Amino acid sequence: MKAAVFLDRDGVLIEDVHLLTRPEQVVIPSGVSAALRALGAAGFKLVVVSNQPVVARGLVSELDVRAVNIHMDSLLQRAGAPPLDGIYVCPHHPNATLPAYRVDCDCRKPRPGMILQAAQDHQIALQQSFLVGDRFTDIMAGAKAGCRTVLVQTGQHAAPPIESPEAIDRSIAPDFVCEGLLGASEWILNQCKM
Ligand SMILES: [Mg+2]
Ligand SMILES: [Zn+2]
Repeated sequence: MKAAVFLDRDGVLIEDVHLLTRPEQVVIPSGVSAALRALGAAGFKLVVVSNQPVVARGLVSELDVRAVNIHMDSLLQRAGAPPLDGIYVCPHHPNATLPAYRVDCDCRKPRPGMILQAAQDHQIALQQSFLVGDRFTDIMAGAKAGCRTVLVQTGQHAAPPIESPEAIDRSIAPDFVCEGLLGASEWILNQCKM
């Protein structure tokens, strides 16, 4: 069993662009590749868990999202990050434009479905793992999966909660709050020394 760092995509690994649909829109903030390199070197698996309601809205296909993610992975590696171990995407939305995606699924954060699936696929020990996100709903998903959580302020941390059939659980709080992924990685690596 290995530990993982689960990573939200928009607002954490890449800049949060409203309705990101094309690979050319991917911008990697400074410090992200260095953070991933440090976490990978410490033995963490790096797994992306991303809600992509743009699919449910019919703005892009799941294949388009995959193209964006592959481009992101290659930009990160070009900047010195290790390859990502897994990329999980929820294409659903409770009020999807496309009926096929109008599903009350278990994968859409704040539910922990993508994290639980990744743990099964990659033999990940969730108690030793962490989640980094820029929204409270990311933090909820991580906490529900049994991970420690870090809220970063590079994205939508101040935005109202996303639409979800899941009640917002205000008893959950991130274990750490910091500016961006580099700070998050330093805190995570410090936790492991203790
Ligand atoms: Mg985000
Ligand atoms: Zn889903």
